[in-house]
Amino acid sequence: MKQIRRALWAATRQQVEPEEASQMLEVIPPERRFLLYYRDAQLDRDLERYRLYTHEGLRFRAIALIECSIQAGRPLKPEQIPRTIRMLVPGENAVRMAVQRIYAAVYLKPMVKGRRRRIDAPAEGMPPYHCEKHGQDCSKSCERFQSWWKRVSRTLPTPTTGKLRGEIAHPEGSLRRRA
Ligand SMILES: [Zn+2]
Repeated sequence: MKQIRRALWAATRQQVEPEEASQMLEVIPPERRFLLYYRDAQLDRDLERYRLYTHEGLRFRAIALIECSIQAGRPLKPEQIPRTIRMLVPGENAVRMAVQRIYAAVYLKPMVKGRRRRIDAPAEGMPPYHCEKHGQDCSKSCERFQSWWKRVSRTLPTPTTGKLRGEIAHPEGSLRRRA
């Protein structure tokens, strides 16, 4: 992962004279051009998403749930994330796009879709998370996010109870857990 970071950074962060810049842009593959406009924190965030996806084998939704838990101040570990999550989690689309973006930047080809084990479970009877002010990208202080998390966190393991590899559904829907 460090190698990937270094390589991607090197690919875009060479010192460039202004007159060279336009030529540089042609040299940089389109899959990596977003890095020119990326901040350090953005790249670190997306590399972590990519790491969780590739190294920990988490689905996009599970990664989004980890990010929510961090935002809510109760970080969950990858092994504490239920295997099946039958609700839409705020930010899961952003996670999917970020993982695909990093993959494309590394391999210079689009990520192959439809790898069976990485497909999220269908959400059951619940509308997608939506905040009137922030869409899917609520901040920690958003009331909409806080009330959502309050309901969801009741169905999650506490930070000390280690593994829970069952299922969670939206707390307002039916909760099912694999025995
Ligand atoms: Zn919000």
